[in-house]
Amino acid sequence: MMTDFESIIQSVYESVKNGDNKGEVASYIPELKDVNPEHFGACLSTIDNRVFGVGDFQKTFSIQSIVKVFSLCMAYRISGQKLWKRLGVEPSGNPFNSLVQLEADNGIPRNPFVNAGAIVICDILLSVLPDAHKDFLTFMRDISDDDSVNYSERIASSEKSAGYRNVALCNFIKSFGNIHNEPEEVLDFYFRICSIEMTCEGLSKAMLFLANGGRKTTDKRAIMNPSQAKRINAIMQSCGHYDESGEFTYRVGLPGKSGVGGGIAAVHPQDFSILVWSPRLNARGNSHRGMKFLEEFTTASQCSIF
Ligand code: GLN
Repeated sequence: MMTDFESIIQSVYESVKNGDNKGEVASYIPELKDVNPEHFGACLSTIDNRVFGVGDFQKTFSIQSIVKVFSLCMAYRISGQKLWKRLGVEPSGNPFNSLVQLEADNGIPRNPFVNAGAIVICDILLSVLPDAHKDFLTFMRDISDDDSVNYSERIASSEKSAGYRNVALCNFIKSFGNIHNEPEEVLDFYFRICSIEMTCEGLSKAMLFLANGGRKTTDKRAIMNPSQAKRINAIMQSCGHYDESGEFTYRVGLPGKSGVGGGIAAVHPQDFSILVWSPRLNARGNSHRGMKFLEEFTTASQCSIF
């Protein structure tokens, strides 16, 4: 693809920066509420390893739910199809931290990207990995080619101090028998993986294997097979933005995943991954300027998958 990413990224950035910066920074995790709401950056990485960054693309931020893509990849790679006995692949149509469907669904979360599903994925990883905390970090460092990627103990313990809904979710799922480890252990792992801090540049590079049929673009090793990578992208497309997944597909037209730190990751299979970060969130918990940026970007570059 010979699109002029450099000038498109720059002009879309200027246009969105000059527009409104609506919404609220996530405050239910105490450590997140002090982040400067004016931060704004984006980075696009291509599968032939060209990188185009703009604004605050080298500042670290809390990746939060974007990590759910990577925890799913790791669990799917290890468990294969039997993963889907423990959770589904349907859009939930509900907020990320909702409890309501679980009762009717007998503790089987709708998908791996709502909190309930990500907590079940954490339980699976704790059961199958010799040292889940260490092994997950090793995985993140490997796909990022960056040994400095780390958990933020500050953010993890801040979330733990106020994580009442996630505690409720985990215990509720346990009551249906779909959590096998101790809830406290599962939640500690969940809060820790959500606390990882990365930059737009680092995350866009870490996502690249999903644009490249499951294979890293640097050392060419397969992280997963092409069919698995295709399915992860499909789940991002249908479930990556909770009860705004349809809207994201309509406006942006790329598989994507958001986090309450204000990041949004998106993938164009066979071409690139793109990361945008702006902390103010809309009512559905997705970055307001992040969605606008990606909408204008896919319009200007004609790079939606549709
Ligand atoms: N750690 C956050 C939580 O569980 C992640 C939510 C998100 O980014 N949408 O609430």
